[in-house]
Amino acid sequence: MGDYADLSADVAVVGAGASGIPAAIGAARAGAKVILLEEDPVIGGAPSDYYVCLFYGRPMTGVNAELERLLKSKYAPTPRAQFFLPSGYQHAWREILSAEPNLRVITGARAARVLHTNDAGTPAVAGVTVEAAPGVTFDINSKVTIDCTGSGIISDLAGCTIMYGRDAKADFGEPHAPDTADDHVQACTWMYFIQGLVGITDKARPRGVHVNVGIAPRGEDHLPQPHPILEGETDPELYLHWGCAVECRDTRDPVALAEAHAKAYEVMAPDLQRLHENGYTVHLAPRIGVRECRRVRGEHVITENDITDGAFPDDTIALADYGFDDWRSKAKGGRRDKHVEEFGAATARYGIPYRALIPQGVDGLLVAGKCMSGTHIAQSSFRVMPIAGSTGQAAGVAAALSVKHQQQPRALDPEELRKTLRAEPQHLQLSFD
Ligand SMILES: Cc1cc2nc3c(=O)[nH]c(=O)nc-3n(C[C@H](O)[C@H](O)[C@H](O)COP(=O)(O)OP(=O)(O)OC[C@H]3O[C@@H](n4cnc5c(N)ncnc54)[C@H](O)[C@@H]3O)c2cc1C
Repeated sequence: MGDYADLSADVAVVGAGASGIPAAIGAARAGAKVILLEEDPVIGGAPSDYYVCLFYGRPMTGVNAELERLLKSKYAPTPRAQFFLPSGYQHAWREILSAEPNLRVITGARAARVLHTNDAGTPAVAGVTVEAAPGVTFDINSKVTIDCTGSGIISDLAGCTIMYGRDAKADFGEPHAPDTADDHVQACTWMYFIQGLVGITDKARPRGVHVNVGIAPRGEDHLPQPHPILEGETDPELYLHWGCAVECRDTRDPVALAEAHAKAYEVMAPDLQRLHENGYTVHLAPRIGVRECRRVRGEHVITENDITDGAFPDDTIALADYGFDDWRSKAKGGRRDKHVEEFGAATARYGIPYRALIPQGVDGLLVAGKCMSGTHIAQSSFRVMPIAGSTGQAAGVAAALSVKHQQQPRALDPEELRKTLRAEPQHLQLSFD
C-alpha cells in the first residue's frame, strides 16, 4: 500500500473534467500547490465518460485555447474532422498538465467525504477523504477545495444549499419557468461512435448531404451521411451519435441512473442492430451522459433573465456565448422538445459572475462547471464545455489568490481576480470586444 501521509495541498480540485482540469492548471499557474482528484482511471470527464467530443458554445479561451490548438494540430482524427476523440482529448490535456510542476493528478480517487472545520464560526471545507479502493482511504487536506464534479456532490456533502430540477416561475421571475417547481432535469443521452471498418455494402455507404456528426433520428434511416467536405478525400468513416434521449427519475441516485442506462439500451438496440448489419462497428461510451444534476446555490443565481438581458456584471470572470439548450425527453423518440424551438435557438452572450462560484454559507469551497449556481433554465446554456472550462480556470485562480492572501474566497477582490485572469499566463478573455 502507498504512503498517503503527506497528501496536502493549497488547492484540491475534485473532478478532472471540462472544468476541473482548467481549474487545476489555473491554480497551479497562479502559484498554488494543487492536487487534482479524479474518480475514473482516466482524466477528461464528459469526453472520456460520455463521448462528448466536440465543443459547443464559445469562447474557447485561456487554457481551453491551448487545448484546442493541440487538438487541432496533433490529435485530430483527420485534418478537417469536426470532432475530437476521447483519447486525443486525454493526450492533449496530459501534455498541458505535465508542464505544471505544482500540480499532482491522482486518478482512481473518489472524494467520498468532506473534511470540515468551523474555527471561524462559519462551516468550512478543509479537504476531502478519498476512497481509492475498498478499504483504501486517505485524506487530502487543502486550504481551498473546488467542486468540479459536475454533480455538485462535494458541495452537498459540505452542507451547501442544493438546487435540483425545475424552478418555479415565482422563484426567480423567469418567463419560461413552470408555475410549480418539480424534479425534472434534462434528458440523459448515451453517445457512441460508429466506424465503417469492414463489409460496408454500397447500399449502406454514407450518402446525402449531412455531416459526420449527428443524431440518428428514430424511425428514419439513421445511417450516417457523408461529410460534405471530406467525401472522397479523407473521410474517416467515423461518426459521432447522440444515441437517444431518456429521462432519469433522479440523476443524483446511482440506481436511477442505472435504470436510465438500461432504458437507453432498449431504445437504441434496433439502431445498433441495424448499424451492425450494415457493417459499422459501434463504440459505446462508458457511461450514459448526464446533462444536469445538482446545482449549488451561490452568492448569485444565474437566471434566464440574466442571459436574455446579456448581463455582464462587474465581477464577470468568464464569458458565455451559447443559447438555451434544454434537452428534455417529453417527446417520444428522444427529440428535443418545443421548449428549445421556442426560445433556445437564439445565441446569448453574457458574463458569469464570480459570485456564482461561491457557495452560500460555506467557506473553503468554490464550485465550477455545470453544477455552479444557476437556475435549471440558465444551466441549459452555461453547461457546455467552453464555458465550464473558463469558470474552472477562474475558480482555480480565485482559490490560489485566496490562499496567497490567507483569506476566504468570498472575501477576494473580484477586480484583482479579473486582472490576474486577463494577464499571462492565464490569458482568459473577459470581453467580447
Ligand atoms: C450527452 C451530452 C452531450 C453533450 N454535448 C455537448 C457538446 O456537444 N458540446 C459541449 O461543449 N458540451 C456538451 N455537453 C455538456 C458538457 O459535456 C458538460 O456539461 C461539461 O463537460 C461539464 O463540465 P464539468 O467539469 O462540470 O463536468 P464533467 O466534464 O462531467 O467532469 C466531472 C468530473 O468529475 C469526476 N467526479 C465526479 N465525482 C467525483 C468524486 N466524488 N471524486 C472524484 N472525481 C469525481 C467525474 O468522473 C468527471 O470526470 C454534453 C453533455 C452531455 C451529457
